[in-house]
Amino acid sequence: MFYFASRVPKEGEESLPLITWPDGNGRIAAHLATSARQRIETGWLVTNVIPSNDGVDVIAESREGRDLRGIHAKRVIFAAPQFIAAHVIAPFRDALPSHVREFTYGSWLVANLTLRDRPRSSGFPLAWDNVFYESPSLGYVVATHQSGIDYGPTVLTYYYALCDSNPRISRERLLSVNRDEWAEVVLSDISRAHPEIRDLTERLDIMRWGHAMIRPRPGFIGSEARRRAREPHRNIHFAHTDLSGVALFEEALYHGVRAAEGVLHAFDRAVKTFL
Ligand SMILES: Cc1cc2nc3c(=O)[nH]c(=O)nc-3n(C[C@H](O)[C@H](O)[C@H](O)COP(=O)(O)OP(=O)(O)OC[C@H]3O[C@@H](n4cnc5c(N)ncnc54)[C@H](O)[C@@H]3O)c2cc1C
Repeated sequence: MFYFASRVPKEGEESLPLITWPDGNGRIAAHLATSARQRIETGWLVTNVIPSNDGVDVIAESREGRDLRGIHAKRVIFAAPQFIAAHVIAPFRDALPSHVREFTYGSWLVANLTLRDRPRSSGFPLAWDNVFYESPSLGYVVATHQSGIDYGPTVLTYYYALCDSNPRISRERLLSVNRDEWAEVVLSDISRAHPEIRDLTERLDIMRWGHAMIRPRPGFIGSEARRRAREPHRNIHFAHTDLSGVALFEEALYHGVRAAEGVLHAFDRAVKTFL
């Protein structure tokens, strides 16, 4: 619901239309990556970010865990979620700032079902986003919908948000159920609308995301904690959609640009803002 609620320009007005396209956010990420290709290095896990008197030291481990490297920078942008900042930024690890604790995360189960053919649909053709009446899940999207072909093999992406009032309980619930048990939950739920789903499914991938998204809980958007989290900590600037209190690509982009402009300001570089 927050996708629609966050796109209402003014109180009392209608939500702006939903925008979507093939590959979703992946297409934008790929485009941004292309324009900065020479300067991007993937496959490194940052394990330590240590502010010092003349900048920031960053320690990273290679994907295979074989190599460690150190990078010294005058300033860094930390563009990962706040729950990771708590483990990776050295002074936060030693004494966690109270505002970081205020960021809480919802758990999501995401399943991709590869189908050899489309399920039948009674009453209404398959839409891009399909919601089941009286189901605890969010239903599924047809991942191939925007290819414009409405027959033959496809992939359904099914979403189930665990919404206990205590997110820790949700995470325990998510992780205590194994892959086959979750697959059964998914198939039983979808079979309410499509009884033949088990016959059509050739492959079923389950992802359990314990800290999937920041939870947009009441009071958080206007909170002091959210305001403080946007402020740099010494030479570390922060970006990430978390900082808006909702998980949306537009917010991630906003905070990325805001943090980049903050770094330029810190170097006394004149910037014409994009914001
Ligand atoms: C199931 C699900 C469905 C969603 N659907 C939508 C949608 O339809 N539309 C929408 O706008 N948003 C959606 N979102 C929200 C989406 O996650 C955000 O819009 C977007 O990913 C935010 O981008 P970001 O750059 O702020 O953060 P992220 O995408 O979280 O990027 C942070 C990056 O930091 C990396 N990282 C973390 N820790 C480290 C480390 N220690 N070292 C190195 N790298 C690290 C991560 O691997 C990740 O690549 C969805 C989220 C989920 C979980």
